[in-house]
Amino acid sequence: MDFTIPEELRALRKSYATFLDREIRPIEEGLFEDLTGLDPDRDRLYEGALAVRRRSAEEGFYACYLPEAVGGWGVSTLGTALLVEDAARSGLRLAPLTLGVPNPSGPSPMLLKLPEHLWPTYLHPVVKAEKTMCFALTEPEAGSDAQAIRTSARRDGDDWVIDGMKHYITNGDKADFAVVFAVTDKEKRADGGITAFVVPSEQFRVGKVQATMADAHPSELWFDGSRVPADHVVGEVGRGFQAAMTFLNGGRAGFAAQSLGLAELCLDQAVAHARTRTAFGRPLAENQGVSFPLAECKAEIEAMRWMTYHLAWATDQADGSGAALALDSSIAKFYCTERAYAVADRCLQVFGGMGLLREGPIERVLRHLRVLRVVEGASEVQKLVIARSLGL
Ligand SMILES: Cc1cc2nc3c(=O)[nH]c(=O)nc-3n(C[C@H](O)[C@H](O)[C@H](O)COP(=O)(O)OP(=O)(O)OC[C@H]3O[C@@H](n4cnc5c(N)ncnc54)[C@H](O)[C@@H]3O)c2cc1C
Repeated sequence: MDFTIPEELRALRKSYATFLDREIRPIEEGLFEDLTGLDPDRDRLYEGALAVRRRSAEEGFYACYLPEAVGGWGVSTLGTALLVEDAARSGLRLAPLTLGVPNPSGPSPMLLKLPEHLWPTYLHPVVKAEKTMCFALTEPEAGSDAQAIRTSARRDGDDWVIDGMKHYITNGDKADFAVVFAVTDKEKRADGGITAFVVPSEQFRVGKVQATMADAHPSELWFDGSRVPADHVVGEVGRGFQAAMTFLNGGRAGFAAQSLGLAELCLDQAVAHARTRTAFGRPLAENQGVSFPLAECKAEIEAMRWMTYHLAWATDQADGSGAALALDSSIAKFYCTERAYAVADRCLQVFGGMGLLREGPIERVLRHLRVLRVVEGASEVQKLVIARSLGL
């Protein structure tokens, strides 16, 4: 076993850190009031997010995990996980937007499964951050049990016609197009009867924007006879459910890496605070009631680190089918999101009242980690996969 991070990835991390500091920090400082205040200007925040994505696309980081042929650098899953971790650990609220994954609005590797003549319309503009997308799977009656979706698609001449409704769709209200999952064969459903389509935003209606505890709010999307040409299928007709699961499994290394980086950020901040804040005439850190929980955080972070790096490494070694990695992905998504939340909660306690302030370093991390325990397969769904591997 070799646990060394390859030299080229260490160099990549270094140049990414410089980029964040030079390009993203000033944008964030200009938006600090909106990011932390009571009355944010949402339009200004959205403009800021676009600027961050564009700068990152110009530098090449945004879609670095895609092949060179489509404008990426072919960075491995391990390399991408390290950048996702670093973005989270940087403490910059806008840093995660510099990477197309695990954001559903960024260039998804799923788009490589579109026919090549559609790449200039859908894939290339997302790689350049000129357009954004969304991933539309969840419905009111189909969340954890995603194969229960009701949205349907039928052939009508040279088109597919889509009817149905999605909800909780991240970036749904801003996306230029959606990857939409619909039933094309009611008998087969998950076993050959669900298809993924790319649907331009002119062909769907945005319903309610659903305010959540997260910083970004998802939306309802309505498809009332939405029409797309026959070639707008992502991958093969009937194989959309498998494509969705491969996408979600692939994204789990990113979720784990993000959780790891956020936990590290919380611990970095809490350690510094415990050393400098005094109460009862001495630094907080001199109380084992403070230092021992932080020691536990460190041990858990190391477990998260090696689980995340191992998953990313194993993904790079795999044949691309994704099947063998479903278990590792579930273990890492479950463990890292749950433990990172516990780490953030302990670190928040060390900050006392400051831990609850929006302008402090932990409050938004705790909210975000709470969301990660539910989205893209809640912890219980990951435990179902793990239990099945035990024959239970
Ligand atoms: C902020 C946000 C952003 C999102 N973004 C997107 C997006 O971009 N695209 C998209 O398609 N979806 C998105 N989602 C949807 C998200 O993935 C779902 O909310 C999630 O999969 C859970 O589905 P549900 O909410 O319907 O919960 P349910 O499926 O109703 O589950 C409710 C609870 O029951 C548990 N549960 C369910 N089945 C079992 C079981 N068999 N055993 C034990 N426990 C069980 C679940 O773990 C959960 O805790 C988003 C959601 C949110 C809140």
